[in-house]
Amino acid sequence: MALAYVGIGSNLGDPAARVRDAIAALASIGSVRARSSLYRSVPWGRTDQPAFINAVVRLETGLAPAALLDELKAIEARLGRTPGERWGPRVIDLDILTYDDERVESAALRVPHPHLYERAFVLVPLAEIDDAYRPARDALQASSLEGVTRYAGPAE
Ligand code: AMP
Repeated sequence: MALAYVGIGSNLGDPAARVRDAIAALASIGSVRARSSLYRSVPWGRTDQPAFINAVVRLETGLAPAALLDELKAIEARLGRTPGERWGPRVIDLDILTYDDERVESAALRVPHPHLYERAFVLVPLAEIDDAYRPARDALQASSLEGVTRYAGPAE
């Protein structure tokens, strides 16, 4: 069994509902050992799009990294994602952030996720459930941290 961190994001339709759907779906491919709060984050890359809801899950899984990526893509498709613009709005986005201490460098998959340490919308929820990421989170610029706030939406 391996421990993977999976990043979740959505900014179309009902994003908080889609993120919760994704967390429920992850439970079908492993054991969800921890889950962060939901966060609202201002769009990154392309700013002319709706805000995102983000979360991170610690998943214990028997799937190898490539198989895990396949399952994440299958969940994305089930939740209604269609191929779209790279930095544009998306119904759901699932990323492998880390997979134990493994490094993967293939055309289809890079682990740890190459932008892990740059993105407040990843590091803020990650640091909530794993203290080891607090220094990396705290090293981010205040301006990017301010863009990520706890989502105070309807109760679960
Ligand atoms: P995205 O548009 O963010 O969903 O990126 C999708 C593509 O990024 C996937 O088709 C993967 O092949 C590739 N990819 C590379 N590294 C990763 C990773 N760590 N987690 C998820 N997708 C990845």
